[in-house]
Amino acid sequence: MRAETVQKNDNQPPKTFSAADIGLILKAAHFAANKHKSQKRKGGEASPYINHPLEVAELIWNTGEYYDPEVVCAAILHDTVEDTETTFTEIEELFGLRIASLVKEVTDDKSLPKAERKALQIEHAPHLSEGASLIKLGDKASNVKDIVNDPPPDWSEERKHDYVEWTKLVVNELAAVSPPLKEHYERNYQSAKATLAKQAKKIRD
Ligand code: ZN
Repeated sequence: MRAETVQKNDNQPPKTFSAADIGLILKAAHFAANKHKSQKRKGGEASPYINHPLEVAELIWNTGEYYDPEVVCAAILHDTVEDTETTFTEIEELFGLRIASLVKEVTDDKSLPKAERKALQIEHAPHLSEGASLIKLGDKASNVKDIVNDPPPDWSEERKHDYVEWTKLVVNELAAVSPPLKEHYERNYQSAKATLAKQAKKIRD
């Protein structure tokens, strides 16, 4: 098997990736694309749902400079159990125990009321594994951007504001897993806040 080396981050030793690693990532992308095939993002543009998990995976690798193929696979799969018919057993059979565990760590219990699920995300954040913390951070960076750039048409300004502030409460509890990805989140958060403040001013004026 021919190995490729990625040498992007001077702070980390270069790691070697095999054809099997790339194969696993493509398998996850194909699997998630199929599972989310009829779903759209909540925004007015109704873009395909798969854009979001792919963005989270890309953020972890290219922005976070965190080169772990299994974490990338779990990032691609992170919403399949929560939002589609997928089960953890299915993921474990196809992708192994570690990827299934990572997905489980970032999956909300949908049998609970929404307010409780949101509170639990804050409560659980400091106890997440390193891989799950990266996925959570990438997820919030993606969502906080989408909620203002492509907002759900039925969301009030207040709801968007509350959502943006809630992502911050979750992120604040996460372990410091990737400074560059954290900075990326902060930029998205600040820009979301600025956009919402501008919109609120327009409504007042
Ligand atoms: Zn997500």
